[in-house]
Formats: sequence, C-alpha cells, structure tokens
Amino acid sequence: MDNNKDNNKEKSDFIREIIREDLERNGSNQEIHTRFPPEPNGYLHIGHAKSICLNFGLADEFGGKCNLRFDDTNPVKEESEYVESIKKDIKWLGFDWGDREYYASDYFEKLYEFALILIKKGKAYVCDLNADEIREYRGTLTTPGKESPYRNRSIEENLRLFKEMKEGKYPDGSRVLRAKIDMSSPNLNMRDPIMYRILHKRHHRTGNKWCIYPTYDWAHGQSDSIENITHSICTLEFEDHRPLYDWFIEQLGIHHPRQIEFARLNLTYTVMSKRMLLELVEKKYVNGWDDPRMPTISGMRRRGYSPEAIRNFCSEIGLAKAESTIDLAFLEHFIREDLNKKAARVMGVLNPLKIIIDNYPDDKQEELEAINNPEDLNAGTRKIPFSKVLYIEQDDFMENPPNKFYRLSPGREVRLRYAYFIKCVDVIKDKNGNILELHCVYDPSTKGGNAPDGRKVKSTLHWVSARHAITAEVRLYDKLFIKENPLKLKDGEDFKDNLSPNSLVVINNCKLEPYLKKVKPGEVYQFERLGYFCVDTDTTNEKIIFNRTVTLKDEWAKISKTL
Ligand code: ATP
Ligand code: MG
Repeated sequence: MDNNKDNNKEKSDFIREIIREDLERNGSNQEIHTRFPPEPNGYLHIGHAKSICLNFGLADEFGGKCNLRFDDTNPVKEESEYVESIKKDIKWLGFDWGDREYYASDYFEKLYEFALILIKKGKAYVCDLNADEIREYRGTLTTPGKESPYRNRSIEENLRLFKEMKEGKYPDGSRVLRAKIDMSSPNLNMRDPIMYRILHKRHHRTGNKWCIYPTYDWAHGQSDSIENITHSICTLEFEDHRPLYDWFIEQLGIHHPRQIEFARLNLTYTVMSKRMLLELVEKKYVNGWDDPRMPTISGMRRRGYSPEAIRNFCSEIGLAKAESTIDLAFLEHFIREDLNKKAARVMGVLNPLKIIIDNYPDDKQEELEAINNPEDLNAGTRKIPFSKVLYIEQDDFMENPPNKFYRLSPGREVRLRYAYFIKCVDVIKDKNGNILELHCVYDPSTKGGNAPDGRKVKSTLHWVSARHAITAEVRLYDKLFIKENPLKLKDGEDFKDNLSPNSLVVINNCKLEPYLKKVKPGEVYQFERLGYFCVDTDTTNEKIIFNRTVTLKDEWAKISKTL
C-alpha cells in the first residue's frame, strides 16, 4: 500500500486484539481470512470505505486474505451497474481482492442443499402464512410470538412443497421456507425467520434459473462459511443476528467463522443510507451517484479527494463498539492535509473585477516567477504573465471599506502576488452605480512584491492577466444538508426538507492563469487564497470545469481546540 502513513505503526483496537488472541491460540500457521460483502444495490459510500479499509487492512497486516463478495440475494434491487461501480471504487481506494471475487448467487445451489438438510432434520418448514400474518404471529419485544399453523408439517410434505416452490409451481408471496427455532425467544431474529421467499424475478447473474431466493440472513453466514472466512466483521446491527447465524452453522455442522461487530461510521451533514442516497439520485436532488456533494466514494473522487486522504481518515477514526457521528470537518482536515502536500498553487479569480494599470505600457508584458508548491520545493517554479489589464477578485475591493478591511480601496496600496505594489486611483461605474473597472498605478521598483524602501502593505491579492487568462466554470460545493443530523425530524418532516439550497453554486466566468490551459480531469490545484479545486470529469477541450474540493480554512483546528 502506498503512502499510508499508518503503515509503520502497529494498530491496536478491540478487533485486532481478538485476532491476535485467536492467532496465538490457534498457532501461527493459521491464516486470517476476511471479506468485504457489499450488497450491489447502490454505490459505495464513505461508511463502506471504513469497512473496506478494515477488512483489507487486517488481511494486509496479518498476512492473510480478504475476499470481495457481492451479497446479491435480492434480485429486485440489484444491478450490474452497481457491481461495476463497487469494483472500481475498491480498486481506486487502493485494495486488491486478487482472484477472490465471489457472489452469494454462486452459492444458490449450495444454499438450497443446505436448506434441504435443515428440512430433513426437522429444522425448517414451509409456511403458507402471508407477510402480514407472519409479522403478526412474530409478536413483539414484549410479547412472545405464536407458532404458525404450518409449523408441524411432516418432513416429506416440507420437502415436496419446497421443491415445488423451486420449480415455480407457486406465485410470489404464497409460501416461504422458515427455520424452526423458537417463537418465544426474546430475540426476534430467532422466531422462525424466513430463509426463502418466492420471487419470479430475473437475477443479474443467475437469470431466470431461480424463482426462490435466499434471505440475507440465510445466505450471509453460510456464504462466509463456504469461503472459509475466519473473521466475519460486520456492523453493530448484526449483533442480534449472530445467534441466528450461529444456529444455522451449528445445525449444518460446517466451518464457523467468528463474527465481530463494530460501530458504523456516521458523518455530520450527510446521510449514509443507500436507500436515501438512491432517492436523492432518482428524484434528481443531486446529479447522480458521483455528484461531488454525495458521501459516495465516486462523489468524493470526482470532488478531488484522494484515496490516501480517505484511508488516513478511516484509520484515524478508529473502531468502536458504540455508535457515534464523526464531524465532517474532521474528514475535510485529512483532505486538506493531503492536498497541502500535493497540490500545485495557481492563481484564479472566481468573480473577476477588471483593473487597468495606468502607468504600465500598453503592449508590454512580463513573465514573473512563481513557486509551484511551498510545501514541496521539488515542484519547481513557473512563469506567470503580467500586463496592463488584470483581473482581481470583486471581494478584494471596497470603495468605502470598514476599519478592518485591508484589501484594495481608493488610495490604498496593496501587493499583487509575485508582481508589484499597486494603488487604486479611480473607480469607474455604470449609470446604476455598479463598479465596472478600477484604475490603478503600479510602482516598478516593487517587482517581485517587495519595496526597496522597506514600506509595507497590509494585504496581498491574487490576480490574473486579462489578455492571457483562460475562462472556466467553477462549481462551489458546500454541505449537502443544513442540519448536522439531517435525520432528526419533527412530525411530518422528511430528510429531504433538510437539503441545503446552497450546496451547489455555479460560477461561469472565472479567469485562470494560462498555466491551467491543459489540465486533465482529476487534477487538483490550490487556487491561492481560495481553496483546493479539482478538474471535473466533464471538462473538454472547449470547456474547463473545476469543482471546489475544499476551502482553505481548517474548521477542525477550531473545533478540536474547544473539545
Ligand atoms: P445501507 O444500510 O446504507 O443500505 P448496508 O450496510 O446495507 O448499507 P452493504 O452493502 O450491506 O450496505 O454493506 C457492505 C459492508 O459495509 C457491510 O459489511 C456493512 O457492515 C459495511 N458498512 C455499511 N455501511 C457502513 C458504515 N456506515 N460504516 C461502516 N461500515 C459500513
Ligand atoms: Mg446490508
């Protein structure tokens, strides 16, 4: 793994402790074997990245293996598009499953045989109750369940009905196969859970071969067992499913992986449920799964986050047994830390204000030297053209400045980065009083940005030469939701009511230094004083589009001081 800053230090957390103990107990010849088991019903998000870094990371650290397994048991919601995106995202994050790409659907035959074993042992039965009845019979946390009237069918009848279900003799929803466990168990998962349902639906891999499909609960543990997974790591909501998974494995007498649960990652100002993310995509609240505002890996990639930054973040948040929510600012802290080292500094003006240097010759142009990255002097220098007409940021000028405003205003002298001191001598307006352009004078003796007489200025502005500038579209992204927890809803509210109206602002006529003429999608630059900006994948030869990856201000530094 490249660049993972945590590579050299031995990590410690409750999962690694358990694994070390297991390895000690079982002797060092045991290889650990984990898996990452996504359901291909959506694109991966940053929560999945935590699970990927953990499962592949453990395999790396302990010299074991990690499988990629698609838990594709639900043909209604799954698509090959999702399979492809998941593979792309895992690779991009920097992990490799080798030739171990598996699908729960590869085990449909095996799972069917396992089901027959349970039926023959009197541990599973075909139930004709409908979905509502099953729910009603299940009882609640405070009341015990009621046994299904079909629970005591003979083994022969169960075998016949189950085979007929598989052969397609019955319509959707008419029958299910259930495990025969305990309707009075305090754990609802143990109250005769469903193993198979009838679904006459085409599957993305098995086509029309099957019309009964295993439930996730029936498929998951057995799939882990079939793959000889040693440590089956999952999120906390599966803690209550563990007794069921143990029960299946014990009844079948097959390899028993050890399941360990950890708390899922939650982030402020976003949602992490695939169902909700899908809704945002389908109802066009965002522009697709890879919209840079999405917490998806593809969205973050498009926004300019690097795999190293995401891995460092996942490593630093650590593992816990209790749910918590991580501050979005903490993630952005890692993005900045990473880009600070890598991104070349350039000058770009988002909202241009034209200035004319009255005492600069009309046709003259100069090449001024600029440092590409003060954090990485190997990145070298470049030339920036300077000429009589320039653009500066509209925000950097005020005609009637308040006390604390040190940037340009009439009569005030400021520095243009890498260039000269200039002073504003005149403000030109249209008939409505809008500022059209400024007239300035420059001091030729301040070339490079310092005055030989030692006089100081209070601010340094970025700028671009008008004649040399290239024009670009810049998309400014902000938090997707206005509330820290968009799911904290009052009666009648929907999470979408908390979407931020300002999460995307497009500016069309930005002026950039000519160095950026030949940028390629995915490259990230620091626009001095403004933030980090990534070249969007929609960029063409005709049109350059930048996404703002993140601003320069590290909110985390502020927050962590108050903690
Ligand atoms: P969702 O609840 O958003 O639909 P999911 O958990 O059903 O997601 P899966 O495709 O089943 O999504 O997840 C694959 C793996 O990623 C599982 O092992 C799951 O535990 C893990 N995972 C999913 N979300 C998170 C998260 N927020 N933090 C950590 N791990 C996660
Ligand atoms: Mg799931």
